[in-house]
Amino acid sequence: MAYVCVHCGKKIKQLDNFIRCQYCGSRVIVKSRPNLSREVKTD
Ligand SMILES: [Zn+2]
Repeated sequence: MAYVCVHCGKKIKQLDNFIRCQYCGSRVIVKSRPNLSREVKTD
């Protein structure tokens, strides 16, 4: 299952006990949902 950093939007594949974005260092990670629309709608 892929995870995405909510800070920079980078995909994070490596998962350990300590999930952290390798790009910005943020620990705010969400599960990516490929088949679902985004929560934020522009309508
Ligand atoms: Zn990040």
